[in-house]
Amino acid sequence: MAPARQGVEMKRTHFKTCPTCGSEFQTTNMRKQYCNVRCTPSYQRAQAFYKDIKVKLPSGTVGTCGELLAAHDLLLRGYFVFRSMTPNSPVDLIILNGKKVYTVEVKSGYMKADGTISSPSAAHTHNCDILAICEQHKRRIFYKGLKGSLPERLQSEK
Ligand SMILES: [Zn+2]
Repeated sequence: MAPARQGVEMKRTHFKTCPTCGSEFQTTNMRKQYCNVRCTPSYQRAQAFYKDIKVKLPSGTVGTCGELLAAHDLLLRGYFVFRSMTPNSPVDLIILNGKKVYTVEVKSGYMKADGTISSPSAAHTHNCDILAICEQHKRRIFYKGLKGSLPERLQSEK
Protein backbone atom coordinates (compact mmCIF):
# COMPACT_ATOMS: atom_id res chain seq x y z
CA MET A 1 0.00 0.00 0.00
CA ALA A 2 1.27 3.45 -0.89
CA PRO A 3 2.22 5.59 2.08
CA ALA A 4 -0.23 8.40 2.88
CA ARG A 5 1.06 11.71 1.59
CA GLN A 6 1.09 14.21 4.36
CA GLY A 7 -0.09 17.75 3.77
CA VAL A 8 -1.59 16.91 0.39
CA GLU A 9 -5.34 16.92 0.19
CA MET A 10 -6.61 13.99 -1.83
CA LYS A 11 -8.96 15.27 -4.52
CA ARG A 12 -11.91 12.98 -5.07
CA THR A 13 -14.07 13.39 -8.13
CA HIS A 14 -17.76 13.96 -7.42
CA PHE A 15 -20.44 13.37 -10.04
CA LYS A 16 -23.23 15.92 -9.80
CA THR A 17 -26.35 17.09 -11.57
CA CYS A 18 -26.81 20.83 -11.99
CA PRO A 19 -30.16 21.90 -10.46
CA THR A 20 -30.57 24.72 -13.02
CA CYS A 21 -29.87 23.10 -16.39
CA GLY A 22 -29.94 19.43 -15.41
CA SER A 23 -26.60 18.62 -17.01
CA GLU A 24 -24.23 16.21 -15.32
CA PHE A 25 -20.74 17.39 -14.39
CA GLN A 26 -17.68 16.28 -12.46
CA THR A 27 -15.97 18.30 -9.78
CA THR A 28 -13.37 17.82 -7.08
CA ASN A 29 -15.10 20.48 -4.98
CA MET A 30 -17.67 18.66 -2.87
CA ARG A 31 -19.64 21.88 -2.23
CA LYS A 32 -19.96 22.89 -5.87
CA GLN A 33 -23.63 22.79 -6.84
CA TYR A 34 -23.87 24.38 -10.28
CA CYS A 35 -22.10 23.28 -13.46
CA ASN A 36 -21.18 26.79 -14.50
CA VAL A 37 -21.39 30.36 -13.17
CA ARG A 38 -24.31 30.98 -15.55
CA CYS A 39 -26.37 28.39 -13.67
CA THR A 40 -25.90 30.03 -10.25
CA PRO A 41 -28.90 31.78 -8.65
CA SER A 42 -27.10 35.14 -8.64
CA TYR A 43 -26.41 34.97 -12.37
CA GLN A 44 -29.95 33.79 -13.09
CA ARG A 45 -31.39 36.69 -11.10
CA ALA A 46 -29.17 39.20 -12.87
CA GLN A 47 -30.12 37.65 -16.21
CA ALA A 48 -33.83 37.92 -15.35
CA PHE A 49 -33.33 41.55 -14.30
CA TYR A 50 -31.68 42.41 -17.64
CA LYS A 51 -33.87 40.13 -19.76
CA ASP A 52 -35.16 42.97 -21.96
CA ILE A 53 -31.59 43.70 -23.03
CA LYS A 54 -31.31 40.18 -24.49
CA VAL A 55 -27.61 39.59 -24.27
CA LYS A 56 -25.79 36.61 -22.81
CA LEU A 57 -22.71 37.82 -21.01
CA PRO A 58 -19.59 35.64 -20.92
CA SER A 59 -18.82 34.60 -17.33
CA GLY A 60 -15.49 36.50 -17.45
CA THR A 61 -17.39 39.71 -18.15
CA VAL A 62 -19.72 39.07 -15.22
CA GLY A 63 -16.69 38.61 -12.95
CA THR A 64 -15.09 41.80 -14.24
CA CYS A 65 -18.31 43.75 -13.61
CA GLY A 66 -18.30 42.54 -10.00
CA GLU A 67 -14.69 43.59 -9.48
CA LEU A 68 -15.33 47.04 -10.99
CA LEU A 69 -18.44 47.51 -8.86
CA ALA A 70 -16.50 46.55 -5.71
CA ALA A 71 -13.59 48.82 -6.72
CA HIS A 72 -16.02 51.71 -7.21
CA ASP A 73 -17.58 51.14 -3.79
CA LEU A 74 -14.17 50.85 -2.09
CA LEU A 75 -12.94 54.07 -3.74
CA LEU A 76 -16.05 55.89 -2.49
CA ARG A 77 -15.31 54.60 1.01
CA GLY A 78 -11.94 56.34 0.85
CA TYR A 79 -9.47 53.53 0.10
CA PHE A 80 -6.73 53.40 -2.50
CA VAL A 81 -7.71 50.44 -4.69
CA PHE A 82 -5.43 48.24 -6.81
CA ARG A 83 -6.67 45.64 -9.28
CA SER A 84 -4.85 42.50 -10.39
CA MET A 85 -3.25 42.58 -13.84
CA THR A 86 -4.08 38.92 -14.48
CA PRO A 87 -7.29 36.92 -13.96
CA ASN A 88 -5.13 34.14 -12.50
CA SER A 89 -4.20 36.09 -9.41
CA PRO A 90 -5.13 34.59 -6.00
CA VAL A 91 -6.96 37.82 -5.07
CA ASP A 92 -8.90 40.36 -7.14
CA LEU A 93 -8.21 43.66 -5.40
CA ILE A 94 -5.87 45.14 -2.85
CA ILE A 95 -6.88 48.13 -0.78
CA LEU A 96 -4.63 50.47 1.09
CA ASN A 97 -5.67 52.27 4.24
CA GLY A 98 -2.74 54.35 5.49
CA LYS A 99 0.01 51.73 5.82
CA LYS A 100 -2.43 48.85 6.18
CA VAL A 101 -2.96 46.57 3.21
CA TYR A 102 -5.93 44.25 2.76
CA THR A 103 -6.47 41.66 0.06
CA VAL A 104 -9.99 41.44 -1.35
CA GLU A 105 -11.68 38.63 -3.24
CA VAL A 106 -14.86 39.54 -5.13
CA LYS A 107 -17.64 36.98 -5.58
CA SER A 108 -21.18 37.13 -6.88
CA GLY A 109 -23.90 36.55 -4.33
CA TYR A 110 -27.20 37.89 -3.10
CA MET A 111 -29.28 38.60 -0.03
CA LYS A 112 -31.71 35.79 0.65
CA ALA A 113 -35.32 36.37 1.71
CA ASP A 114 -34.36 35.85 5.37
CA GLY A 115 -31.73 38.62 5.17
CA THR A 116 -28.70 36.33 5.21
CA ILE A 117 -26.09 36.62 2.46
CA SER A 118 -25.32 33.72 0.17
CA SER A 119 -21.58 33.28 0.04
CA PRO A 120 -19.13 31.03 -1.75
CA SER A 121 -17.49 28.12 0.00
CA ALA A 122 -14.41 28.82 2.10
CA ALA A 123 -12.27 26.77 -0.32
CA HIS A 124 -12.33 29.64 -2.83
CA THR A 125 -11.68 32.47 -0.40
CA HIS A 126 -8.94 31.31 1.95
CA ASN A 127 -6.33 33.62 0.41
CA CYS A 128 -7.94 36.94 1.20
CA ASP A 129 -8.54 39.24 4.18
CA ILE A 130 -11.88 40.50 2.93
CA LEU A 131 -14.61 38.90 0.89
CA ALA A 132 -16.73 41.32 -1.15
CA ILE A 133 -20.02 39.72 -2.15
CA CYS A 134 -21.63 41.57 -5.05
CA GLU A 135 -25.32 41.63 -5.79
CA GLN A 136 -24.71 43.17 -9.16
CA HIS A 137 -28.14 44.04 -10.48
CA LYS A 138 -28.91 45.86 -7.21
CA ARG A 139 -25.45 47.47 -7.11
CA ARG A 140 -24.97 46.21 -3.56
CA ILE A 141 -21.82 44.88 -1.92
CA PHE A 142 -21.65 42.98 1.34
CA TYR A 143 -18.28 42.72 3.05
CA LYS A 144 -17.06 39.90 5.23
CA GLY A 145 -13.81 39.86 7.22
CA LEU A 146 -12.16 36.46 6.84
CA LYS A 147 -9.06 37.15 8.93
CA GLY A 148 -10.19 39.24 11.87
CA SER A 149 -12.78 41.96 11.89
CA LEU A 150 -13.60 44.25 9.00
CA PRO A 151 -12.06 47.71 8.82
CA GLU A 152 -14.54 50.26 10.21
CA ARG A 153 -15.39 51.87 6.87
CA LEU A 154 -16.56 48.54 5.48
CA GLN A 155 -18.85 47.75 8.36
CA SER A 156 -21.75 50.03 7.47
CA GLU A 157 -23.99 48.83 4.69
CA LYS A 158 -24.56 51.31 1.89
ZN1 LIG B 1 -26.00 23.99 -15.19
